[in-house]
Amino acid sequence: MQNCIFCKIIAGELPAKKVFEDEFVLAFHDIEPVAPVHVLIIPKTTGENHINSAHGISESNAEYIAKIFEAVPKIAASLGLSDDNGYRIVTNIGKDGKQSVFHLHFHLIGGKPLPARFW
Ligand code: AMP
Repeated sequence: MQNCIFCKIIAGELPAKKVFEDEFVLAFHDIEPVAPVHVLIIPKTTGENHINSAHGISESNAEYIAKIFEAVPKIAASLGLSDDNGYRIVTNIGKDGKQSVFHLHFHLIGGKPLPARFW
């Protein structure tokens, strides 16, 4: 997808405060955090393999999604989070879901008690 800011972060063309990176996954601090920990976890899928949102997940890119969720506990632990206090994973999809960046990303939010619902 042209002019995708997260593709530019993957390519190193825009800066990001990275917290995790491997062949499949990149995680970096959200630029407008809503909690003490607010990280975005994205698949390194670009070009014709670009995934706009969770609605674009399919058998052909499922490996990336598995890698993201394998990375979640590692990223959370590295930021001081645990399944004791807990945290939240959120993904917004499209207009009604209030998605603003159209490169699949999972918000990892924690470090304080979160509201019971976002809806
Ligand atoms: P969403 O509204 O679910 O699409 O989430 C997009 C998120 O990306 C928002 O929380 C923004 O604060 C965040 N964001 C936008 N641009 C950047 C950037 N350059 N670096 C880090 N986070 C960003």
